[in-house]
Amino acid sequence: MSERRIALVTGGGSGIGRGISQRLAEDGFATAVLDLNGEAAEQVAAESRQKGHEAVAFGGVDVSDRAQVDDAVRRVRERFGGPVLVLVNNAGVSDVGRFLKISDETWNRVMAVNLDGPFYLCQAVVPDMREAGWGRIVNISSSSTHSGQPFMAAYVASKSGLVGLTKSLALELGPDGITVNTIPPGFIDTPMLRDSEERGLLGGSVDHHAELTPVRRPGRPEDIAAACSFLVSEEAGYITGQVIGVNGGRNT
Ligand code: NAP
Repeated sequence: MSERRIALVTGGGSGIGRGISQRLAEDGFATAVLDLNGEAAEQVAAESRQKGHEAVAFGGVDVSDRAQVDDAVRRVRERFGGPVLVLVNNAGVSDVGRFLKISDETWNRVMAVNLDGPFYLCQAVVPDMREAGWGRIVNISSSSTHSGQPFMAAYVASKSGLVGLTKSLALELGPDGITVNTIPPGFIDTPMLRDSEERGLLGGSVDHHAELTPVRRPGRPEDIAAACSFLVSEEAGYITGQVIGVNGGRNT
């Protein structure tokens, strides 16, 4: 990368977001690690700085709150001295339960974090990307959008909305030099997955599911980070509006 660019990763303190933050910092991006969990974000940013990369934590930011998002994007611009030209919308929450038991509160919270959050973040950074004539947006959706998932109606609906947002934005922003793609991860070994295993929500252990996966292992945050690294690179400028599955062959 010839010039220094600024990347912002939401949910960057844990799991997939942690892997993406670390990879983008290694790739030479000045990386803003944004997370609700301030301690986790600080730890990830500190790990990257120890390796000589440029990374700063923006903790305690809830992506479902537009005012907090706008303020965080302003602070990132100030701290790094330039606009965010790479945005990875990764922060997400899941919920498991029977459809008829989903409360309004649960439905609205899942939509607010998984869909409103990316909406607010895109609106906050796109003007700067437009002005620069260059931008990269990667939305982390879910492999559950390929086929649906029982007992996860709110989650799958929110993530399917994110796929639709990706495709529509790609068409609208292509002329501005901005690409928008989505990676739907499948079965990645993160705290979210292990929490589901512990609560008996996977219908079997992680090891059991790994045996049923064509590549015979769970995914790693690094697998998603590698795909993301390519999608935000200069070389990926002709790829936009795409759904790039990273799932060990579980969905084709
Ligand atoms: P994770 O380990 O739970 O990490 C998610 C991070 O996002 C956490 O640090 C969490 O903070 C943060 N976060 C949650 N709500 C937030 C909010 N409102 N504002 C800002 N940050 C927030 O999850 P993961 O497994 O890495 O998942 C990352 C993304 O991949 C999610 O969008 C998820 O839906 C998607 N995904 C994961 C898998 C998988 O197999 N792991 C599969 C499909 C899709 P707290 O810890 O404080 O809540």
